[in-house]
Amino acid sequence: MSLNQVELKKIIQKAEDSCIESGGRLTVKRKNVLMALLSTDMPQSAYEIASYYKETFNEAIPVMSIYRMLKFLVKESLVHKLSSTKKYVACSHIACNHSHKVPQFLICDQCHQVSEVGVQKEIIDALQISVENADFYLNSPELELHGVCRDCHKLSYS
Ligand SMILES: [Zn+2]
Ligand SMILES: [Zn+2]
Ligand SMILES: [Zn+2]
Repeated sequence: MSLNQVELKKIIQKAEDSCIESGGRLTVKRKNVLMALLSTDMPQSAYEIASYYKETFNEAIPVMSIYRMLKFLVKESLVHKLSSTKKYVACSHIACNHSHKVPQFLICDQCHQVSEVGVQKEIIDALQISVENADFYLNSPELELHGVCRDCHKLSYS
């Protein structure tokens, strides 16, 4: 995400508020991990976050701790984990006031950029019913769709 300082400040403030509301706390370290994800559109692995952390905040954090912090951020819906790639992205709706639809992720297989789009609950409900009818149980209703983003599509078809 290309965010300016004002937008970033607003997002962090919202994130702090929503943690307090749910009884958690956005500690400095958790906040820095969130900042690492907010600084890019590319999904990041815990290892990539750990090295970004070291470079940016001048502190070495064990990858295990990064995982724990990511788990907290995912629980708070501030970060999403992409199961198909085992990487993490910041939620693009942290600063929004409207209620969060079920997130769906469009993953570009060429540049690996991810965008988050909301899907109507009715569509997910219908999907869930047809999945259950096939005697299958979903771990998560989030969809991850692989394809090509606009920029990469332009490049390959121009
Ligand atoms: Zn989200
Ligand atoms: Zn939104
Ligand atoms: Zn792309």
